[in-house]
Amino acid sequence: MKIYLDNNATTRLDDDAFEAMIPFFKEEYGNAFSLHLFGKETGKAVAESRKVIADLLKVLPEEVIFTGSGTEGDNLAIRGVARAYKNRGKHIIVSSIEHPGVRNTCKDLEKEGYEITVLNVNENGVVDVEQLKSAIKDETILISVMHANNETGVVQPIEEIGKIAKENKILFHVDAVQSMGKLPIDPKAMGIDLLVFTAHKFYGPKGVGALYVRNGVRLGKVITGGGQERKLRPGTTNTPLIVGMAKALEKAYATMDEEFKKEAELRDYFEEQLLAQIPEIVVNGKNVKRLPGTSSITFKYVEGESILLSLSMKGIAVSSGSACSSDELQASHVLLAMGIPEEFAHGTIRFSLGKYNTKEEMDYTINAVVEVIGKLRMMSPLWNEFHK
Ligand SMILES: *Cc1c(COP(=O)(O)O)cnc(C)c1O
Repeated sequence: MKIYLDNNATTRLDDDAFEAMIPFFKEEYGNAFSLHLFGKETGKAVAESRKVIADLLKVLPEEVIFTGSGTEGDNLAIRGVARAYKNRGKHIIVSSIEHPGVRNTCKDLEKEGYEITVLNVNENGVVDVEQLKSAIKDETILISVMHANNETGVVQPIEEIGKIAKENKILFHVDAVQSMGKLPIDPKAMGIDLLVFTAHKFYGPKGVGALYVRNGVRLGKVITGGGQERKLRPGTTNTPLIVGMAKALEKAYATMDEEFKKEAELRDYFEEQLLAQIPEIVVNGKNVKRLPGTSSITFKYVEGESILLSLSMKGIAVSSGSACSSDELQASHVLLAMGIPEEFAHGTIRFSLGKYNTKEEMDYTINAVVEVIGKLRMMSPLWNEFHK
């Protein structure tokens, strides 16, 4: 038995998305920028994919820039704004729970002389909007807050922040990598100026993403080269992956409501069972709006890495803390920001469900988790200490 519960790290490619890509690896391999017949074919496919994505987001095709990843989109957006608007100001506001793609980009800009204000979250993992309001000053050029957090699935008050950004004439960047294809997103209605997503989180291929840039927003160049993607992301167009991303997103939108319901039901069942069968656990962000398939659970008095490896031996793939920091033994910055004590943050596991998961898999996982936690706690000095 192999059970994949790490869909927030990446997803299995959708079959239709795979099929849609194949011709562009074989017969239709022309450079989409070439003027000859080979280029015309691929150029048309790229234009169509751009239109599909733009229509789903209710934006203009020219506002969609293809990138190589979510990380790259975050970099292009934040560094691009920082460069283009530095004469207006050098102050950026960002949340404390961002992905490294945003977090480390801001840290880097700080070294270059930008001032970064980091917003707190409450115990549920929701960004402090009042703090945001009071952090705004004349020099503020950008606010960056993610739509849904990758570790907890907690959804942020994007519309409210979008309104505040607009009132203060500040640009608003949203990392929507986790929510794209799972929650409705309307950048124009939500006041978003820059929106980032990546195909491999919604059953598209790895190595392709997109950045929505509202018309009128200026971006300084981060990568220099030819004329592709409005010169913002030069480099030969990756036609097959772009076609695969458009197909995957189209499918995700077509099944969004039913998928949400299915995953939320499975996730809620999973959490109810664990809460009933295992003492001293906490479901993080349980009482606020979350992505349907994400379950972040703190198992007190055990080490997350031990849980992860024990479950892996039983064929179950999960992640501890954030996937990106799991090779460093550092407690997740997201969980710490929520006020979870370091020792408990270390005992937190993220189960992330996707469209291929079944009730049978969840039942198998429930039993496995109950067994693993029982065994690990028997060997845990902290647990024995707690029990005295
Ligand atoms: C996965 C992820 C990214 C990075 O996307 P890549 O395409 O892997 O670079 C960025 N932000 C969030 C919230 C993510 O979950």
